[in-house]
Amino acid sequence: MNQKAVAENVRTQALDQPEVSIVVPVFNEEATLRHLSSELFRALASERFELILVNDGSKDRTGQILIELAGAHSEIVVVELSRNFGQHPAVVAGFSVVRGKYVVTLDADLQNPPEEIPRLLEQLRNGHDVVGSVRENRQDPWLRKQVSSLVNTVTTASMGVGMKDYGCMLRGYTREVVEEIVELAEQAAFVPALAMMLASNPVEIDVRHVEREEGSSKYSPLRLMRLGFDLITGFSLLPIQLVSVVGLLIAIAGGALSALLFARRIILGPESDGLFTLFAILFAFMGVLLLAVGLVGEYVGRIYAEVRRRPTYRIREVISQSVDSGETDGSQ
Ligand code: UDP
Ligand code: MG
Repeated sequence: MNQKAVAENVRTQALDQPEVSIVVPVFNEEATLRHLSSELFRALASERFELILVNDGSKDRTGQILIELAGAHSEIVVVELSRNFGQHPAVVAGFSVVRGKYVVTLDADLQNPPEEIPRLLEQLRNGHDVVGSVRENRQDPWLRKQVSSLVNTVTTASMGVGMKDYGCMLRGYTREVVEEIVELAEQAAFVPALAMMLASNPVEIDVRHVEREEGSSKYSPLRLMRLGFDLITGFSLLPIQLVSVVGLLIAIAGGALSALLFARRIILGPESDGLFTLFAILFAFMGVLLLAVGLVGEYVGRIYAEVRRRPTYRIREVISQSVDSGETDGSQ
């Protein structure tokens, strides 16, 4: 290739280069995909964008539909993972192939309306590097909202920086933040909190939230609990410190009580009335101990996972009209 051809090539590449990358993790979402894609195309009509759909090991017809969509639209890039890795690893896998200057994530189920994306982009263009979103009158089950609210409070307290809603996945990031997240390759990645840690100029905006129209939530209570644990232990030592403080207080109280009981034994002589009180105290101690051991175990488990450095995701194939695929994974 001569100089002119090279220059020409670079220019077409620059023209092709999307400015905005939308990343959507997809797990068994055959019912919503087409609707999602048409909504996104409508919302982004005035943007140069690419749409990265990460198939997180779906078992239904998701894979086929994705390939059809990629065949029909040059903006669509399909990232096929080798199996189900979970929502956040899937998002990070999508991050590893983005080309845009601004990156926006959202869920496939249209609970976050795509019409809100231009408002996120506006904040990114105003110089914010992380744009969070707060769900106005969130449409989710009650218990679900309570768990979220607890997680938000603990995370905010432990990170020092507050975000009202870490759970809403309709979020915007600059390319730099996204690249750093990919490089971190954390085992228990929770994307919104990681981004918050890396952000220098974050902002939060209100977005609408609607009920899931088709399909069902992919989070069972157990999965949700694991995600909550990821978030809390992944970002702070606060829980373990709280346990230590409570443990210390109980130990002091226990010591004082023993002294009192001992004094009574000396002054009043043997008495068996206190037997059940003693049992109660014993159980309280045991509870705290078990809790503490469990928490320590939780941290140790996480250190173990981090030390093994197994890949958090494995991309089997990248399908689009222009990109060639290659197998990659999320290990460093
Ligand atoms: N998801 C995923 N892998 C999973 C579970 C979920 O990629 O193992 C995707 C799912 O397809 C959706 C998003 O993550 O796009 C959020 O999932 P869901 O709507 O089930 O969660 P909820 O709205 O109940 O938090
Ligand atoms: Mg949802």
